[in-house]
Amino acid sequence: MNIDNQNLWLYSFLSRFSRLKGYKSKIMLIAFLGTHVPLLTLLIYFLVSNSYSFEMTVRVLVIALVATLVGTGITLYALHNLLAPVVVTYLALRAYLSKKRLPKLPTHFTDEVGTLMADTVKTITKLDEVIEHLTNYDDLTGLPNRVLFTDRLQQALSRSQDQTRLLAVICLHLNNFREINNALGSSAGEQLLRGVAQRLRASVDRSDLICRLSSDEFVIALPDLTASEDVVPFCQLLLERLLLPIFLQGHEVHIEPSVGIAVYPFDGDSVEQLLQNANTAIDEAKRRAPNNYQFYGADMNVQLQERLGLENQLRHALERNELQLHYQPQVDTNSGEIIGVEALVRWQNPELGAVSPVKFIPIAEANGLIIPIGEWVLRTACTQTRLWQDAGLPPLRIGVNLSARQLAQPNLVERISQILAETELDVAYLELEVTESLIMENVQHSINVLQQLHDMGITLALDDFGTGYSSLSYLRRFPIDILKIDRSFVRDVVVNSEDAAVTNAIITLAKSLGLHITAEGVETQEQFEYMKSHECNKIQGYYFSRPITAPAMGELLKKNQNMHLVERCA
Ligand code: C2E
Ligand code: CA
Ligand code: CA
Repeated sequence: MNIDNQNLWLYSFLSRFSRLKGYKSKIMLIAFLGTHVPLLTLLIYFLVSNSYSFEMTVRVLVIALVATLVGTGITLYALHNLLAPVVVTYLALRAYLSKKRLPKLPTHFTDEVGTLMADTVKTITKLDEVIEHLTNYDDLTGLPNRVLFTDRLQQALSRSQDQTRLLAVICLHLNNFREINNALGSSAGEQLLRGVAQRLRASVDRSDLICRLSSDEFVIALPDLTASEDVVPFCQLLLERLLLPIFLQGHEVHIEPSVGIAVYPFDGDSVEQLLQNANTAIDEAKRRAPNNYQFYGADMNVQLQERLGLENQLRHALERNELQLHYQPQVDTNSGEIIGVEALVRWQNPELGAVSPVKFIPIAEANGLIIPIGEWVLRTACTQTRLWQDAGLPPLRIGVNLSARQLAQPNLVERISQILAETELDVAYLELEVTESLIMENVQHSINVLQQLHDMGITLALDDFGTGYSSLSYLRRFPIDILKIDRSFVRDVVVNSEDAAVTNAIITLAKSLGLHITAEGVETQEQFEYMKSHECNKIQGYYFSRPITAPAMGELLKKNQNMHLVERCA
């Protein structure tokens, strides 16, 4: 097709007339003039020839005028409609330019103007994609650039805020990029960056939350985290992947990545702050060791590392026989006899030493290890109790602590009956201790499970009573037998009148509900006397004994038995 600008002469000519601004009006004018040519010809013909009468001339001219006007009207109307494709294409282009609205035009017509409409749609759509890519993506790696990433991160942050979730911003720096670039040239450097981008993309679900920030700096955002340490396995995997060699122009290249992590909301609540802090963490990571990740904020690192170390070791604690049970006697206030013991787990690790249950039980709770640990505790405690009974010691009840995760376990009741059967311990000798906060996590479920345990004949004790915030109205619905007064009240019961008031209130409440009372943490004679005078049934605390090993407990039980035998004989 020959595009000849000279074809535009008429168009250019008509454009000179300021009154003919629109394209449509130019065409209309020409059509108007064209349709009037026969009429004018007729008029001129009548003027030069005298062969027709005046009347005849007028009649013919009037008919011709009417016919011309009708013809012109129809022609102009048809043209007006036929020009519509040109006009809508024009409007669609204007709409894209001014409002970035993509054109919606018919694409199935095949003549020139039909193709004009179809091609306009195609070209603008493509153009829009190219512009979008140029403004939002990094040319070299195809990853989102800072503009798009910032925008998406902002959105993710607002969502995290709504759902009270954590979000980690993970910055990555390739320490030796410059050296590689200098040694192998910039095209190898570019290939390296593309390779890294590919590995990053393979590590995340959402590719819009990765970005190349600057030449050898990348950043990833991980939304929807429940704990800061959730990010650790991700970073470990990421580093593992990045440490695999990359082959560039026949050379095997090893990159040295450093990773810095900032977590919303702890380390900032804006995009800038999180990026800045993740970068600070990178500097720290570089200082410490190569190929390493680092959280922002030193305290958190220390705590987290400690917790991670603990968690790793705890995974092997059972199989390596590092757990042990200690037993603490519970003494009848009136007779002074040991009528029960509480089993308390101990962990002795070769690297960490003795770790308090206060430290490791919550971790076992969080990662689910409490289930096997809890079963081991129950089995060991029941076996031991049975052994004492078999040795002829007076039967006593064994108290075992139950954790939240265990209570939520679907087959808890069956597991407990199974363990009782295996260890041949009569159900009457088992006491399970639960805390208020544990029951309150899912009240109805807890009540159902506790009811089943109670129906089996297991004694139930509410541990640490007074420290939680269960409403007293619930207390009535819990199928429990014993309230254990928390040691924080017992500690100052003889010196602090408020603690005494709370303790008295708990005792009165327990009595009115027909519950037994165990006071824990009794350390002194005064505390013991106080509890005794307030009709507390059972006492547990250092006053009688610290938690001790099974053989030591066996000895204590024998001594206690002999003492009472002597008393009874006397
Ligand atoms: P708890 O159930 O309230 O256990 C009583 C804690 O008070 C024990 O600490 C015990 O050593 C301590 N204690 C006893 N008498 C006295 C006293 O007179 N004075 C003072 N200051 N403390 C006394 P421990 O053994 O460190 O256990 C701490 C917590 O760890 C337990 O609190 C319990 O919540 C948890 N725990 C221990 N063993 C287990 C277990 O086998 N399973 C579960 N789920 N939790 C356990
Ligand atoms: Ca307890
Ligand atoms: Ca307790």
